[in-house]
Amino acid sequence: MIETDKREVYRYLGYRKNMPDEAVVRLVDECLKDLQEAVTPRYIFREYPIQSVYPAGGSAAQIPVLRIAGMEISSRSLMRNLRGCESVYLMGTTLGLGPDRLIARASVKHMSRAVILQAAAAAMIEAWTDRVNGEIIQAAAAKGLYCRPRFSPGYGDFPLEFQEDLARILRLQKEIGVSLTESMLMMPSKSVTAVVGLSREKAGCVLHGCEECTKSQDCAFARNKV
Ligand code: SF4
Repeated sequence: MIETDKREVYRYLGYRKNMPDEAVVRLVDECLKDLQEAVTPRYIFREYPIQSVYPAGGSAAQIPVLRIAGMEISSRSLMRNLRGCESVYLMGTTLGLGPDRLIARASVKHMSRAVILQAAAAAMIEAWTDRVNGEIIQAAAAKGLYCRPRFSPGYGDFPLEFQEDLARILRLQKEIGVSLTESMLMMPSKSVTAVVGLSREKAGCVLHGCEECTKSQDCAFARNKV
């Protein structure tokens, strides 16, 4: 059972302060129940050292390059987030193909149901990824390490193309049945890849990341500042 926050589903549907009407609330409940029966959640995470950080060119304005598991990543926001980290967990999660099949079936006859299924599945993969992230935090704690918030390709200036590298390094197809289309979309669509920094320094990170952290204004590692 994946506990999914219904307020997140409403938020994905565009409800901000107002609650949806009774009919929508009922449909959200039904869709969450259908999804719950359709999902086949899987995950993988593995630790890799940060091999090196070096400037891409001579000038100070140049973005540094991070080497992790053979990847060479130029990203100021990821760099900032991983400052002080010696290693990372690379992670992948998925809800399996069930949600995509439900959404495709609903799209033929009940577009409004398809829209709600889409929002509910988006909230559910976040909830599942949070749960896996919780395991990662525990695994890190057992080694005396602290986790930074997870950071996915496509966020900030961390190029989306790195999804391909993460999929290859973690062997996502074989391990959890996730592949990538030519346009970098993950299949099943409700899947996530991310990098989680590991540090000996306790920053006091919150699971939902820097955007929801009260310390982000003054934090040296906040991912939402470059
Ligand atoms: S802002 Fe908060 S969540 Fe983000 S790195 Fe700093 S302490 Fe961690």
